[in-house]
Amino acid sequence: MRDVVIIGAGVSGLTVAYLLKKQGFDPLVIEKEPQIGGSTYTLRKNSYIMELGVQSVLGQEEFMNFTKELNLKPIHPPKEHANTRYVYINGKLKKMPSTPIEFLASDFFSLWGKFRLLREPFIPPKDDARESISDFVKRRLGKEFLDKIVEPFVCGIYAGDPDELSAKYAIRRVKALEDEYGSIIKGAMKKKSLGPQGEITSFEGGLLTFLEKMSQGIDITLESVALKITKKDDVYTIDAKNGKIQTKCVVLATPAYSASYLLRNLSWSMSQDLDDIQHAPVMVISAIVKESLPKGFGFLIPKAENTIMLGALFSSNLFRVCPEGQNMITIYVGGQRRKDVADWPEEKIIQKVKEELNEILGIKAFVSYEFKKWKKAIPQYTIGYEKYLQTLKDIENMNKGVFIAGNYVEGNSFNDSLRYAMKRTSDVLKFLKEGVIHGAQV
Ligand SMILES: Cc1cc2nc3c(=O)[nH]c(=O)nc-3n(C[C@H](O)[C@H](O)[C@H](O)COP(=O)(O)OP(=O)(O)OC[C@H]3O[C@@H](n4cnc5c(N)ncnc54)[C@H](O)[C@@H]3O)c2cc1C
Repeated sequence: MRDVVIIGAGVSGLTVAYLLKKQGFDPLVIEKEPQIGGSTYTLRKNSYIMELGVQSVLGQEEFMNFTKELNLKPIHPPKEHANTRYVYINGKLKKMPSTPIEFLASDFFSLWGKFRLLREPFIPPKDDARESISDFVKRRLGKEFLDKIVEPFVCGIYAGDPDELSAKYAIRRVKALEDEYGSIIKGAMKKKSLGPQGEITSFEGGLLTFLEKMSQGIDITLESVALKITKKDDVYTIDAKNGKIQTKCVVLATPAYSASYLLRNLSWSMSQDLDDIQHAPVMVISAIVKESLPKGFGFLIPKAENTIMLGALFSSNLFRVCPEGQNMITIYVGGQRRKDVADWPEEKIIQKVKEELNEILGIKAFVSYEFKKWKKAIPQYTIGYEKYLQTLKDIENMNKGVFIAGNYVEGNSFNDSLRYAMKRTSDVLKFLKEGVIHGAQV
């Protein structure tokens, strides 16, 4: 019998495994794919490094602490590229203002849009747990800010639709500024930040390097999909492709829909609820192009422009991902706004992306490219999301020794997943050492 079995070798599962190992336990990780990483998917081919999943991670405290502990040297893009971002508006790439002076001087926002933004500190706060991101932003910052900044950003982070996403759960840090300070602008000035902070970070060899280092010395079985979990006398049996494993403690570090399937024998109806969590599809294309790329990080595209592309990153501006003299662009397609595209064949997507890139950047052809389809890429923290959080808590309370980690509880970024995995490790350790269960927090 194993002390702990962790299902899923993405950042969530590997963080739990690494921390348990450090505490002297010997966890087993089972992963259905032939490689670790999950949505951290670095393709290394000759001298090319293509991130077909997670592109980069913000250098926040916990992540940087791991980086130090793992003896890894983080790399960051040059400042002039990292701080230059564009939005594609009315058929043109427009540089986003990055300082208050630029904001006032640039024509990115209309005069009315600027005035509307400056009114924000005087708008009274509202406590409405069912408010969408769209309604929240329109109420506080105006429609122009929603259309030009928030909608494309929400697409960049969630590949999601701000009409459907909950302000309380999907942009919790920004909503918390209103709750705490009565105003986003006042709160941001007090805290000296609006969103998550940290330098854009990767590693020599791509982001997977981090998880490879973290997974060293951990017992991982690859290509072993977990199919079923059953319980008898507080002992769980996991039926996996490579055989049956028994344990008193299981950590589910898979996407929500896999957890839902795996939990069906333990909590049938509750596990079905988890399957209702929506996921946005995303297609990622890393392409080598002859044309030089504009200075900067990349661009986002608002819904009004009617493209299948959500945006693109100028990858070769950011990190050394291809030989000197070549250019790499990473393109994101689909999302909630164009779910239908996930059913198109690859050739049709590539053809349409080339047409759109020609319009936007004058790029007509790819020297070469790699393509990855994520049919269920990003969990959507929709209005009423608290019901899923309650379900998670109930499942854990009913099944002593089951712990759920992942990107659908306390935020969907790499950092959020890592931080939540750290919290879950403390709960697992309490259970292993003292038999205490701590359900997922709501
Ligand atoms: C295309 C894309 C781009 C992104 N870009 C960024 C970015 O630039 N920056 C950022 O911060 N975040 C980004 N994210 C989001 C973020 O990184 C992820 O939310 C985070 O990595 C999730 O990690 P995880 O370990 O919880 O889940 P995952 O990475 O999904 O890992 C879950 C693992 O479980 C395995 N698994 C599932 N079912 C089973 C089973 N039955 N048996 C065994 N194994 C199973 C899967 O194969 C997978 O390896 C991106 C996500 C995607 C999809």
